[in-house]
Amino acid sequence: MTDYLELAAPGVKGLRPYQPGKPVEELEREYGISNIIKLASNENPLGPSPLALDAIRQELDQLARYPDGNGFVLKQALSTKLGVPQSHITLGNGSNDILEIIVRAFATPDNDIIFSRHAFAVYPLVVKAINAKPVETPAKDWGHDLDAMTEAVTENTRLIFIANPNNPTGTWLAGAALKAFIAGLPRHVIVVVDEAYFEYAIDPRMQAEGYPDALQWLDEFPNLIVTRTFSKAYGLAALRVGYAVSHPGIADLLNRVRQPFNVNHLALVAASAALNDAQHLDKGIHLNAVGMQQLVEGFDAMGLTFIPSVGNFISVDVGKEAAGVYDALLREGVIVRPVANYQMPNHLRVTIGLAQENARFLQSLQKVLA
Ligand SMILES: *Cc1c(COP(=O)(O)O)cnc(C)c1O
Repeated sequence: MTDYLELAAPGVKGLRPYQPGKPVEELEREYGISNIIKLASNENPLGPSPLALDAIRQELDQLARYPDGNGFVLKQALSTKLGVPQSHITLGNGSNDILEIIVRAFATPDNDIIFSRHAFAVYPLVVKAINAKPVETPAKDWGHDLDAMTEAVTENTRLIFIANPNNPTGTWLAGAALKAFIAGLPRHVIVVVDEAYFEYAIDPRMQAEGYPDALQWLDEFPNLIVTRTFSKAYGLAALRVGYAVSHPGIADLLNRVRQPFNVNHLALVAASAALNDAQHLDKGIHLNAVGMQQLVEGFDAMGLTFIPSVGNFISVDVGKEAAGVYDALLREGVIVRPVANYQMPNHLRVTIGLAQENARFLQSLQKVLA
């Protein structure tokens, strides 16, 4: 019998597959229950803009053709919206694709790649896959400790990943601190600021408190890459489309590494159309703010502590090992996300849903904790 593990590339041997949120259909199959709610993958409960759905329907007769490998129409739309030239934009099959492309374009097994404890699980995954050295820095109040990250930089450091806001903690870094951190880095270090939840975090209140738009710093920092996605606030997670904005010299390298047709045609047209529906986007952001308040009040009423979040999710401390609570919630038909793999064994991460979904989650949580 072949020992495939023996044959595996060095970095791959120690990998564990990414644990996604449990699909609704899987829970139906396994438990034979219906009327399930899924608040496990930070998806938009409103779904995508109707403009995006229309755009998809209109293109269904184009599926025999390869997509535009340069994604011209979407890049043009993004360029207009963001005020950056198209040469600064790299499209990805979800922003996870972009994260992997970045690692492959810049890092070798001789490089250290820095990320924070409790940060997004895809960072260690893509780093380990190419056998580069993952360097996890300690967290501060569940968020990134920029001083610890600065201290961790060596001659061999090539990349630093920062999620702002971070998933699964919902913590965020203020612009002044983040900017000073980037300014202090040696230029052989490339910083990736992952803004997957940017649209939720940039509301006027958060801007007043200093939540930054890192795109504004691109002219100053040639070693900065900002990534965003259509999976969260734009409600297009199933289509897989995200992007990076960077110096064109970086975009050129990412473009060499990416697969020629990494973003499919329906994703390109849907994302372009979604950018035109500011109203739908605002509706989702407002719903999220109200739902967040609903959950926070529910947790307060139950005496549970939680990590204040500016994303479309919140991590709550259930006061004991959360695995059993997660299972009990599944039996109630409520799918949330255990985060023990993020070294947060007592927390569950729950995505903000529709008002009635949030209410049902709170009710079920109260029941299973009783
Ligand atoms: C969801 C998420 C992403 C985006 O994933 P996609 O591949 O674009 O769906 C990126 N970073 C973080 C921190 C996330 O939570």
